[in-house]
Order: sequence, then C-alpha cells, then structure tokens
Amino acid sequence: MSVAISIAPGLHFVATPIGSARDITLRALDVLRGADVIAAEDTRTARKLMEIHGVPVNGRPMIPYHDHNGAEARPRVLGALDKGLSVAYVSEAGTPLVADPGYQLGRAVIDAGYSVFSAPGPSAALAALTVSGLASDRFLFAGFAPSQTGARAKWLNGLDAAGATVIVYESPKRIHRMLGELCEALGDDREVAICRELTKRFEEVIRGTCGQVRELLADRTLKGEIVVVIGRATAQTPSEQDVETALTIALEDMPLKAASNHVAEMLGMSKRDVYQLGLRLKNGG
Ligand code: SAM
Repeated sequence: MSVAISIAPGLHFVATPIGSARDITLRALDVLRGADVIAAEDTRTARKLMEIHGVPVNGRPMIPYHDHNGAEARPRVLGALDKGLSVAYVSEAGTPLVADPGYQLGRAVIDAGYSVFSAPGPSAALAALTVSGLASDRFLFAGFAPSQTGARAKWLNGLDAAGATVIVYESPKRIHRMLGELCEALGDDREVAICRELTKRFEEVIRGTCGQVRELLADRTLKGEIVVVIGRATAQTPSEQDVETALTIALEDMPLKAASNHVAEMLGMSKRDVYQLGLRLKNGG
C-alpha cells in the first residue's frame, strides 16, 4: 500500500549516497517521493537514483540546476515556490552545497522569503573525517585546491591558520602533486589520511605522516574519488634555551615566582619545571 506523503512547500536540499546506494535515508526517499518538483544537478543521475529505490517520477517536472545554468534555472525554481509547491534538490552525489551547486539557489530562495529545508545524509567530507583517525573536535572543510600555481601556494600555506584538522577534496590525477606540496608547505612530519572510494568496493584509507604516505604511494596510480584529511600542527616543545631566554627577560622585571608563572603560561609548560629552571639560573647554575 502506498501512502501519499505531503512535503512542506519550500526548497528541500536532499543528500544522496557517495557510493553505496543503500546510504540513502528514509526521509530523503520521502522527500523525493512527495515533492511536487525535482531539481537536480544531473537529472539522469537523479532519475537513476529514484529508479533504484522505487520512487516513480510520475510526470513531475524535473529542472536541471547546475553550475552553468543557475541564472536561468533559479527563476524556474522560484516560480514553483510562488505557486506554493515543494521542490526537492539533489546534486550529483553527497550533500548539495558541499563542493556542489546549491548555495546561490538556497540564498535566492531565502531572499525571496520561502523556506529551505535539509534532508541530511552522506557527505564525503564527514565520512573521511570519521575514518581518518585525526582530531575531530575542530575541523575546516577547504574544498578543492585552486589549480593555478600562485593561488594554490597561497591556499596551501593558509591551511594552518584555523588551527584545525583540514578536509580537502582532490582528484586522483593530482594526488601526488598535492602530497608533495603538503610536505613542502606543512612539513614531512604532518599527519595525513588519504581516504579513497569511501563506502565503495575498493574503499581504502592510507594514514601516516605526509612523508611516509608520499613514499608509500610513490609507485602507485590512484583511481577513484579521494578526500585528503590533514592533521593540525602540534605545538612545538620549547627548547631549554628558549625557556632560559624567556626567563632571563622576565626576571629583569619580576620576582622569580611571578616570572616563572608568566613564562610557563606563555610557553604552555608546567609552572614547577620553569620555577626549578629559574632557581638554577638565579643560583648561577
Ligand atoms: N557534495 C559531495 C559531498 O557531500 O561529499 C562532494 C561533491 S564533489 C564535486 C566530489 C568530490 O568529493 C570528489 O572529487 C572527492 O574528492 C569527494 N568524494 C565524493 N565521493 C567520495 C567517496 N566515495 N570517497 C572519497 N571521496 C569522495
């Protein structure tokens, strides 16, 4: 028995699988089944997905909406919303707007005063973060690196600014170049994870330092879809010389206890250790 599903008027961004078709959510299927209009980055892919899951199109309008036709296609979507209809939007795979079209569409719909909803689900960025083994408390999704050399170098050197784990999408054709550039910009010791073909048959995660992973992959041609997850810079442990210098300067203006507390805080060290060093310094040790 099929049950008619009523979907609220407005634009519904629907996440779709990044590999395994069974990763579609039940709500995504409800929205695709019940929306008055289907908009899609690629209407053929959307039809195929709906067919796999037994969701009939039933003559509903399908609007292609991608990077190259946004200006012409947005009025069609807004026109449907003007009539009080619901529109489901799916990108090629994963979550719309995440390195995929949708941002300008959502913005236009919000500006026109209509509702925007999400049927959340798969995204390669979060799937990769989950399996990377790298810190997940703070992360930056940086999308694809620019291809032009100057812009790319600037982009790579800026990755550390957020003090976060960084998630990058990369094509298999450029993965060796990217690893070389990462080692150069962030150092051979930086932890990385290459997450390939997630949720698919040849799923693989290669973890290690940038130098190790680069060496491991040197003779391999990688195929498929790839996410690179980059660990954050670890705080450098200050050398004894650094601590001595900071203490000597602080002792010019402060008594030993205040100077060692100040230096310990500044360098992220134990107050006791810095105090002991300060004592030795004071005693000419
Ligand atoms: N909107 C999608 C999402 O939410 O992940 C991303 C679309 S973007 C155009 C495509 C890129 O996502 C690929 O080049 C690859 O970097 C990454 N990607 C997509 N599926 C993947 C998978 N199964 N495994 C690894 N990376 C994937």
